[in-house]
This record gives sequence, structure tokens and C-alpha cells, in this order.
Amino acid sequence: MGVDAEHGRLVMQVAAVPALTDNYIWLLHDEVAGHTAVIDPGDGAAALQGAAEHGWTIDQVLITHWHPDHTAGIPAIVAATGASVWGPEAERERFAGLDHGLADGDRVTVGSRDADVWAVPGHTLGHIAFVLPGHVFPGDTLFAGGCGRLFGGSPEQMHGSLQRLATLPDETIAYPAHEYTLSNFRFLAAEAPGDREIERRLAEVTALREAGRPTLPTTIGEERKSNLFLRAADVAEFARLRAAKDSFR
Ligand SMILES: [Zn+2]
Repeated sequence: MGVDAEHGRLVMQVAAVPALTDNYIWLLHDEVAGHTAVIDPGDGAAALQGAAEHGWTIDQVLITHWHPDHTAGIPAIVAATGASVWGPEAERERFAGLDHGLADGDRVTVGSRDADVWAVPGHTLGHIAFVLPGHVFPGDTLFAGGCGRLFGGSPEQMHGSLQRLATLPDETIAYPAHEYTLSNFRFLAAEAPGDREIERRLAEVTALREAGRPTLPTTIGEERKSNLFLRAADVAEFARLRAAKDSFR
């Protein structure tokens, strides 16, 4: 399930490693630099095996936030590869193994490119996203058809973070960290009956899941069309939606 992304003459491949219950650990391989980064490895053995299956060796770990299903694999990966670990300085005390703390506006070299670090608080207070040309790794801030629960931040912060991600070009590929898409679109279909974009996506993701296939990655343009959390006009509407999703069954 690799995605080839032409950027000038440079080819970057992104692959998903399913892990834990419904996480995706993303591998980002830069052929020119011979470099492989792993994003949010909640399971070190799964990440190492996934990289080995592609013939890649992990040399960098990128962390979006401290939750154990995004960080528990760090020690195993560092022990096996000596990879360097980059993640939110604001959450340094919350997980083990952070080498290089990052904050909004920082840049981190990933293979032959630079990633911009954006603070995207809401799911956690120190949550960051990695923004590369044409690609964004939003962790648990943005999901296909949804967004993360508020485990530390306010509705104002999460609404602001989602609106910032929505400023990326429509064709930007987004790699969220969970396969929550079907449940998200069932909720959106109940919230907005008759919405054609939501009905279209509910049908698409239902078919993908019935075939045992991932629904991710997505794109910013797709989310701007069909994700009510991105479409929410103001903080009050966003907060109402988030609360309704929290109790949706
Ligand atoms: Zn999380």
C-alpha cells in the first residue's frame, strides 16, 4: 500500500503499518537519501517488521503527541536501529526517549526534504503535525470524516487547529493515525441526512472496509468537502458536533 509522490525528481514512498486495535503507523521512505522515518510507532515490533518487509531501515522517529498508542514502540526501535526521536517539546515529560524537542515554526529534516512543525492543540495540549510539501501527518488531530477527542485542549483550540490544517492545498495527502473512518461517516450521515458528499463517502468507506482495505490516506480537499468538523462555521458549531460525536453509538 505504498503511495508514490513525485516531488521534482525525488520520490517519496509512504506505507501504512496496521498496529494495535485500529492504529496506523506510517513509514516514510526517501529513496534518494536512503532514509526512512516512522511516525507515531505505538508498537515497535510492528513498525520494525513493516519496514523490513519493504527493505527499509528506520533512522528517524517522528512523534505527534505523547499517547502510548503513538509512543510505546520508541524504545524498541531505538534499541534496534539507533534512530533519533523528534517530537513535541511541550510533552517531553509524558513519554520516554525524546531526543529533539519541537515547537510551532520549527523545521525538521526528513530525508532530502524539510518538514514544517505546526502546533495543533486540542486532542492534547502539546500536539504537533508534520507538514511536508504535498503531505501532512496530523496524528490524532484530523481523521477522515472526524477529529480527535478533546483530551486536554479546548474546542476553541481544536477548531483553530482544524481550520489551520484546512488551509493546506486541497491535493495535500493527509495520513491520520487511526482507522475510524466508517464510524465517523455513520455519525456524519446521521448529523446531515441527505448530504451528498457524506453519502458518497459513507458508501466508499463501507465498501473499502467490507473488502478489508484501509480507508486512508485521505486528502485535505476531500475532508473540506465531507468532514463536518472541518466545515463547522464557528467554535460553537464545532463544540456541539464534538459533544454529539462523543455520545454517538
Ligand atoms: Zn491520541
